[in-house]
This record gives sequence, C-alpha cells and structure tokens, in this order.
Amino acid sequence: MNDLSTAGDRLVVVSNRLPVVLRKIDGSWSFSPGSGGLVSALAPVLRNRGGIWIGWPGSVEAETSAMQEVLEEATRHSGYTLKSVALDMRDKNDFYHGFANEVIWPLFHDLQSHCNFAPRYWDAYTRVNRKFADVIIRSVGPDDFIWVHDYHLMAVGRELKALGMGAQVGFFLHIPFPPPDIYMKLPWRFPLLRALLEYDLIGFQTLRDRRNFLQCVRLIAPDLTISGKGQVVTLRVGRREVRVGTFPIGIDFKEFARDSQNEAVARLARHIHRDLPGRQMILGVDRLDYTKGITHRFEAFRNALQRFPELHHRTTLVQVVVPSREDIPKYHSLKVEMEQLVGEINGQFTQSGWVPIHYIFRSLSRTELLAYYRACHIALVTPLKDGMNLVAKEFCAANPEGEGVLILSEFAGAAAQLQKAALLVNPYNVEEVAEAIQRAIHMSAGERRARMHKLKRFVRDYDIFWWVDAFLRAAIAKDLSNFPVPEDYVPHMETISL
Ligand code: UDP
Repeated sequence: MNDLSTAGDRLVVVSNRLPVVLRKIDGSWSFSPGSGGLVSALAPVLRNRGGIWIGWPGSVEAETSAMQEVLEEATRHSGYTLKSVALDMRDKNDFYHGFANEVIWPLFHDLQSHCNFAPRYWDAYTRVNRKFADVIIRSVGPDDFIWVHDYHLMAVGRELKALGMGAQVGFFLHIPFPPPDIYMKLPWRFPLLRALLEYDLIGFQTLRDRRNFLQCVRLIAPDLTISGKGQVVTLRVGRREVRVGTFPIGIDFKEFARDSQNEAVARLARHIHRDLPGRQMILGVDRLDYTKGITHRFEAFRNALQRFPELHHRTTLVQVVVPSREDIPKYHSLKVEMEQLVGEINGQFTQSGWVPIHYIFRSLSRTELLAYYRACHIALVTPLKDGMNLVAKEFCAANPEGEGVLILSEFAGAAAQLQKAALLVNPYNVEEVAEAIQRAIHMSAGERRARMHKLKRFVRDYDIFWWVDAFLRAAIAKDLSNFPVPEDYVPHMETISL
C-alpha cells in the first residue's frame, strides 16, 4: 500500500450514519449536521484531509433526485464527498434497531439479559452489510484506504472480499469487545468472528478489548499465532494475516479548549453560576442509554445526600440526557424510570432555595454544552461499560481554570488512560460513588489543579489527530516495532488472603 499522506490516495470512511441528517419537511428536503461521538471525532479530520464518507442518510424513503441534490449541497457544506447507502423500513427495523441495537449493543456492553436474538436479525445484518459493500465497491479505487467504523458494519470486510475487492480495508470498533464467556452467547458467534478476520487491520479502544477479541479467536482457531507485543500485533490464522491494535479515540482538544473560552460560552457559564450561587455543580452528560448508568448515578447521589448532610444546599447535580433510540422499548422504559427517580429524590431532599437535581432532557447546542462543562466543578462519568466516553475528555479540555474534578467509571475505556488523575469508581457501588462525590467536593484547589493538569496533558497528547494517524500508520507501516505498548487499566483490586 502507498503512503496515505501522499496526494491521490483517498481516505474512505464508512459508517452506519452519514455525518448529516436528511429531513423532508412539507415535501422538500433539507439537511442538518448529525451529532454523536463518531461525528464529533471524524468530521474535522476528513475536512483536513479530504475524502469520501459513505453511510445511511437516516431516511427510509427511496432515493430521488431531490434527495441527491440536498446530499450534494451537504457535500459542499462539509468539505468532503458524501455517498449514501439506501436502507428501507425492513432494514431499519431488523438491522439497525434489531441486530445492531438489540443484539450487539447490549451483548458487547456485557448486558446479555437485554439481548433479543431474533433469527431474522442476522439475515438483515448480512443483507445490509452487503448493501454497504456494493456502494463502496462502486466508489473507490485500488489505492484508496477504506476505513469501516463500528458494530453495525463488522461484516462489510467479508462482503467486500466476496465481491473481489483488492484494496486494503481497516475496521475500528468504537464500543467494547466482550470477554469470551459473554461473546459465546451470540448465536452467530462463529460467522461474525470469521467476518472480522477478513479485515486487514482491526482496531480496538483498549488492550482489554483486544485481549477479549484474541481470546475469542483462539477458541475457533487453535492454530492462531500472534507476533509482536506492542500497540499493534500481527495475528495469523490459516492463510489470513491480520493486524490488531489498540487506538484509544481522542477529541479535538484544541478546538474544545479554544471554543470554551469564547465570549458566548463565558456569558452563559456566568448565567448558570448566577442561577446556582455558592453551589458546587456536578455534571452528568449522557445519551439516553442503559449502559450509561444514569439510574445508578442518581442512587449514588441520593446516598451521598443521605450520608453527608453537609452537601445539602452546597451541591447540585445537573444531569443532561440527550434523547436517543426512544422507539426501542428498553430505552423508553429507562426514560420513565429515570424521571421517576429524579422526582423521588427531589421530592425527598428539596428545600427552599435548593433543588438537588436539575434534569435536562434534550440535545444541547454546542455553546450550552461548553458552558455547562465550564460552569460545573465536577464531572460524574459513571457508565456501566463504555467503549471510550468522549464526554470525560471534553470536560477536561473545556476546563479553563483547571480546577475541575473527574469522577470516572473504571469500566469506561477512558479509564485506561485517565486512571491516574481521575477519581476512579465502580458505578455499581453506590456507596463508593457517593464517597467519591464527597471527596471531590472537599478536595483542595491544589490537588484539583494537579489532577486536572495531568488529565489535560493526556487528552491533549492523545487527541483525535493522533488517533487517526496512529490507525493509518498501523495500516501501512512495514515495521510494527515502533508502536509502543499503550497504557492499560489495571483494576485496583484489594488483596485477599484465603
Ligand atoms: N453531545 C452532543 N449533544 C449534546 C450533548 C453531548 O452532541 O447535547 C456529544 C458530546 O459532545 C460527545 C457525544 O455527544 O461528543 C457523546 O459521546 P460519548 O463518547 O460520551 O458517548 P456516546 O453517546 O458516543 O455513547
């Protein structure tokens, strides 16, 4: 393969959703920029390098010339080419809601009891992965590098090979990869692993995810050999040779740091402070999702208020929940449960002039989000399991005074990098989380600054540009010995003697 930094070789990004949402209002199409971790992460990179982004535009209507026109307008607006993959209602139900979000999402977050293993979902997954492969093969040249993203598209590499494509194809999994005991519950565990092995490079967020994947491969391929021991290793199974690496995703640190200083953000942050005078504000920002541990977090906050009455009047939890996947029954019932809990806790503790939980259920504008990052003293990031968690990193980048405290779940991918300077907690242990809240509230300014200084350094040094470069270098490097061993999260287990 050629050097990807040279002109002529394009980067082709493939993800389930295009980084724009197309909408038809009163018969005419319009577009708006999409949201979410992947879009925040890759859009600035493609703009800098140029290239193609292939994905579903979010509508199940058959493609028309009007839709194509708005896609071309979105292409001009975004600075790179957008190509759509057309999905119909059956695809949306059985592939997107079904296999992706009722099978892989819960299983890969260790929540197998949330899975619905309906047999038709696997057929939909292979059918839709083939649709993506068809569009890719019509759009790329032999020297392009194809970078497929995330759990919706794990079988695209296999479909491309079946169609005879020779170009190199890499794959990055943004969510965790589960350990073998959990992965093996999947009815389609063997074909899915074999499909993954058709990629030339597979990237995971952490060493733990890579280790889980390699252990699963070993179960189906006892002849597996692994060479190298750094960030990227080479796996050999039969005639296949696949590079497998860990690439913890980052954010555009500079952009967050700069934008958080702008006047509109500063003004809004001052307003938020004025509304909550003398308070230490604790911030939670999550998509509506059962993996984010939002109800456990509310229980931990309740526990803190019960055990540490000095927090009353002094502390407010601002919880932002961004609507997501509400047409899946599990998500709808989570919303109901969350809202009941907020009502219950506020009913229990509210006093004149103090409401303990401020609950916001909507998507924030960027200015609002940055203002909350800036105004709040503590971020409470406690997912039950998370591939990375960009909110944890964004909070650090947008903290100009450098006195914010990050309370972070040990099951977030970000813990592998940030464990030394965040307060690490087990999100299932509400008493431990409550104690971390109390510790953060009482932490001296000196300790806060020292910890935030380290956090910022990590987030700045391993930013989104580092991530893209590391992945693309791993695809083309002749010698993998230059990839150092990454940080790994080591659980802080107590030693017990039996
Ligand atoms: N975010 C957003 N709108 C909001 C609040 C947050 O677009 O109102 C963004 C946030 O800036 C972050 C992303 O959503 O980049 C959430 O990413 P994360 O990795 O924390 O979780 P995910 O939702 O991808 O599981």
